[in-house]
Amino acid sequence: MLALTALLALEGYAHGGVRASRVARPASAPRADIAAKIRVAVVGGGPSGSCAAEILAQEPNVETYLIERKMDNAKPCGGAIPLCMVDEFQLPPEIIDRKVRKMKMISPSNREVDIGQTLEPNEYIGMCRREIMDGYLRERAQKKGAITINGLVTKVEVPEDATPTGGRYKLHYAEYAGEGAAGKPGFIEVDVVIGADGANSRVAKAIDAGEYNYAIAFQERIKISDEKMAFYEDLAEMYVGDDVSPDFYGWVFPKYDHVGVGTGTVTNRPAIKEYQDAMRTRAGDKIAGGKIIKVEAHPIPEHPRPRRVVGRALLVGDAAGYVTKCSGEGIYFAAKSGRMAGEALVRLMQGGSRIPSESEIIAEYIRPYDKAYGPTYLVLDLLQKVFYNSNGAREAFVEMCESEYVQRVTFNSYLYKKVQGNNPIEDVKLLFNTIGSLVRGSAVAAPDKTFSNPVESLKRL
Ligand SMILES: Cc1cc2nc3c(=O)[nH]c(=O)nc-3n(C[C@H](O)[C@H](O)[C@H](O)COP(=O)(O)OP(=O)(O)OC[C@H]3O[C@@H](n4cnc5c(N)ncnc54)[C@H](O)[C@@H]3O)c2cc1C
Repeated sequence: MLALTALLALEGYAHGGVRASRVARPASAPRADIAAKIRVAVVGGGPSGSCAAEILAQEPNVETYLIERKMDNAKPCGGAIPLCMVDEFQLPPEIIDRKVRKMKMISPSNREVDIGQTLEPNEYIGMCRREIMDGYLRERAQKKGAITINGLVTKVEVPEDATPTGGRYKLHYAEYAGEGAAGKPGFIEVDVVIGADGANSRVAKAIDAGEYNYAIAFQERIKISDEKMAFYEDLAEMYVGDDVSPDFYGWVFPKYDHVGVGTGTVTNRPAIKEYQDAMRTRAGDKIAGGKIIKVEAHPIPEHPRPRRVVGRALLVGDAAGYVTKCSGEGIYFAAKSGRMAGEALVRLMQGGSRIPSESEIIAEYIRPYDKAYGPTYLVLDLLQKVFYNSNGAREAFVEMCESEYVQRVTFNSYLYKKVQGNNPIEDVKLLFNTIGSLVRGSAVAAPDKTFSNPVESLKRL
């Protein structure tokens, strides 16, 4: 706190944004002329922002600000995380509400396939409440030295010259201090900005990162009786069918003391509530009599933004567009991209002695990220295109899940984030070889209902 006060005095303005008499720095001073530390602002304190801030905060010559609009934010989310995230991000056991070891895949004709037999006793999918996990990661970043600001960033002013010797970014925010207090306007000037502010990212807009298509996902948290909850003790369900989604899946995920029931769609977003009604119907007696304790909805990005680094501003997590197709998974990729971006910046800043350029950030953060996870996105994109396309294909998908090999490949790639054998083409070939399933599925399945939503259909996948 003392260090912060001293820094603010040096910079000539108060933290709350009341500008004092002295201007901080000439617009385009080279880094070597600046005595103060490099300043990085991370906008958004979800998994991507907190994991980026945690890394940067440990660098003594970098001043890291983590700006989050709602410190107890409960991000609408299924909250499923892969096993590798627990170790890699050193998540304590209390973050994991439940350990899912069994999954039921349920086809359009309600054929059920149990998967999970291939899991080792110590393997599981973690189920978390986002308010708990996000709070933990944010506090950890703070403990490591990130300066947190409870504020909504309302505007990002981009310097005319965004090269390393250019001026600073100016972030305006409404700071929420104290119960019920209206946001107090403030601003901060920084050398580097990380946009970790989710699917509706203001940072992305400010830097003209370009648009992405998105799904809308809807979820109800439903409190069911203890007896019904026992069924979902360590079991999650995935439903496919055009009744629950024309291009995604519906789910029942066990949470702390309730289940999360939800679905999503890109191609027919206006009908999301009908799909959710169908999800409740499909889950039927298993959730009957349950009390809806929370209703939540949020966009899910469909693919990365056209530009993820512009000048000295970069995007991570959902702001960048890092959710996989088919599984709709984004928590791990958010945390991982935040961490990789933080590490790349630390390397490039060389002990706080230099500010990195756009091309350096692309080389150190974007390229390694794409190299590591590009194949995963590619495979899941193909799977979604092939298997969520019609009820026949969905029947085939569920039938294929009976195969032990398919289960092993699926769990290994999900739990450990490695495409099996590091050869995605071979994996895709294998799945295509199950052509028999597709033929059988097409023969038995009811055709998908048509819907009239021409504008969104044109954007399909
Ligand atoms: C219904 C639903 C279910 C999902 N289920 C799963 C699942 O089971 N497993 C999975 O892996 N993924 C799931 N996802 C995807 C997952 O939620 C996201 O990929 C993940 O949350 C991305 O993390 P993030 O840190 O990038 O962004 P977010 O989690 O969206 O965090 C952004 C943060 O920025 C803050 N913020 C936003 N704007 C501002 C601003 N202007 N100023 C200050 N702060 C701001 C927000 O308050 C928020 O805390 C689901 C998504 C949805 C919608």
